[in-house]
Amino acid sequence: MTKITNDFSDPDSVIGMCGVFCGGCPAYQKTCYGCRSASKGPLQKRKSKWKCKKRICIIENQLNHCGECIKLSCVLRKPLEKRYLQNYNIDLTKNCHQIRTLGSHSWIQSQKQKFTCPYCTLPFSPYDQHCLICSPLEKN
Ligand code: SF4
Ligand code: SF4
Ligand SMILES: [Zn+2]
Repeated sequence: MTKITNDFSDPDSVIGMCGVFCGGCPAYQKTCYGCRSASKGPLQKRKSKWKCKKRICIIENQLNHCGECIKLSCVLRKPLEKRYLQNYNIDLTKNCHQIRTLGSHSWIQSQKQKFTCPYCTLPFSPYDQHCLICSPLEKN
């Protein structure tokens, strides 16, 4: 059964169903409740998730994420996977496999560690790929 949670204090609320780390997204808790929430409350300014075919597919198949699906990686995922790999160096298929093999708790810890600056110890956005405070010139 797909885990839907509208509670930010639930650790699993940061796990995007397609393998995106919602917890690292700048919109999370600001303009979005996260992929795993079904809340249409006032914070949910981003509307795209309701039409996301991957999210719909996962819920229809009663899975928690694509890593539980024998069709990984299916055609529905291909454009998103390509975009994440090219633009952000994030491998969403690998993420899905890791969520399954590591378990959600360890995967969340690994993502937090990956997106925390080793110099200033502040979190940075996965979409920036590195800390903009400590290495702003590295961004290309
Ligand atoms: S792309 Fe779809 S499945 Fe992935 S995090 Fe966004 S809403 Fe969820
Ligand atoms: S891998 Fe594809 S078919 Fe399987 S749940 Fe994810 S989106 Fe649906
Ligand atoms: Zn830093």
